[in-house]
Amino acid sequence: MTRTLRTAVATATAFVALTLCAAPGARAHDAFDPKPGADGAGDPLFPTLGNGGYDVLHYDLSFDFTPVTYDFSGVMKIYATATQDLSSFNLDIDSLAVDEVKVNGKAATWAVSLGKSGQELTVTPARALHDHLPFVVTVAYRGNGKTKPVGAPGWRYMSDGGFVSAAQASRADTFAPVNDTTRDKATWSFHLTAPDGWTPAANGTLLGSRAAAGSADPRTTWDFVLGSRMAPELLGISVARQTMLTGDGPHGIRLRHYVPADQVATYQPIVEQTGEQIEWLEQTLGVRFPFSTYGMQIVRDGYGDALENQTLSLFGPGWFKNAATSRTYTNVMIHELTHQWFGDSVTPTTWQSAWLNEGPAVYYAALWADQQGFSSMEEKMRTAYAKLDAVRKTDGPPGLPTALGGFNIYDGAAVTLYALRQQIGQEDFDAVITSWLVKHRGGNADTQDFIDNAVEVTDDPTLRPFLEDWLFSTENPPMPGHPDWT
Ligand SMILES: [Zn+2]
Repeated sequence: MTRTLRTAVATATAFVALTLCAAPGARAHDAFDPKPGADGAGDPLFPTLGNGGYDVLHYDLSFDFTPVTYDFSGVMKIYATATQDLSSFNLDIDSLAVDEVKVNGKAATWAVSLGKSGQELTVTPARALHDHLPFVVTVAYRGNGKTKPVGAPGWRYMSDGGFVSAAQASRADTFAPVNDTTRDKATWSFHLTAPDGWTPAANGTLLGSRAAAGSADPRTTWDFVLGSRMAPELLGISVARQTMLTGDGPHGIRLRHYVPADQVATYQPIVEQTGEQIEWLEQTLGVRFPFSTYGMQIVRDGYGDALENQTLSLFGPGWFKNAATSRTYTNVMIHELTHQWFGDSVTPTTWQSAWLNEGPAVYYAALWADQQGFSSMEEKMRTAYAKLDAVRKTDGPPGLPTALGGFNIYDGAAVTLYALRQQIGQEDFDAVITSWLVKHRGGNADTQDFIDNAVEVTDDPTLRPFLEDWLFSTENPPMPGHPDWT
């Protein structure tokens, strides 16, 4: 024991000596040379989305909202680490009136300019920032939710005077200054303030509420924390006349849902199916649910789509209008729930790889629909295969879309996964999916990572050209096992 300890001390001393000797040389090599951070993160589909030169670790958002008028004020505190020496850096904003910017507690100069998907807030700190060192940015700002943004609108308005955020892919910056790229994921805390009688919701766990000081009308601040890293596009905040319903999911997952306050009886039986859906997906994917909490945010009106906001999927009311007579609405619940693994936990490095979000969501919702007896998966895939060939030429193949939201990255990507299953069989397919989710849990990955993983797990190098053909070709490859499909 003594001998081991001596060796360890000797090794440590040698290491310190080496480090000290190496330091002056390394220093001279990397002289402090501050330059502006890039105004884009290099996304092929959204060149000015996100920024370079730093990595956000944590967002702390205070947001005070007045219903009906839609006025708001906010303070965003960003804890980041510089990834280069920085003379200035950018944040993404859109139609926010900036009052003050501080870096490390000192007033910074700032300017707003036009970007391709919103605006750029360029911040010049009083003292340039060193590579690898942490810094804190505080931005105080104001706005009105009904202001027409420069880029796409992220605000959705409810007839009760409330709002909900639908920020994907480039709209988080209409609520707060952020580094709006999928590749910069961070933990979050939220302090949402609203007049009494209104209920705010946010991603993550509700810690509690407290009386808000300093306002004429009685207001309450609600505190939330999200301990799992999230890309800004998955921001899910709302203030509405809504009720929080809670429940227990499998193995301690806390469920909480937000439904319109006067429609609890309608939505309670719907949201209560979430726990068994999580169990079904955990068994099907072979991986536990990636977060400690989950739930549904159902809006009264003003929003007709569905969106996989992290830990709090968003749904328009239209999905559930036939809920009394048919259970096919559960397909969309499975779609958004699947995204919590594909897209939220494992997030594409760029939007070019968005098929990795939508393909699995469509695929597993189709599998669910098949197992529930709603519709045949094989028939859905056959129809999608027939349509995909033409879509490849107009909108790009699944792995190289010209835009987001198309058939290519949804059903077209599901057909690609189906082809992979046909090619390698159920057992290997499940192994590819499970390892993908485990390997990249909580991080970023793209199309090449998916192909690499498939080849590695199956030890089958022919899967590289096979998947490249399906993902990048302008023509449909033949469907394995279905030579008659055209
Ligand atoms: Zn989706």
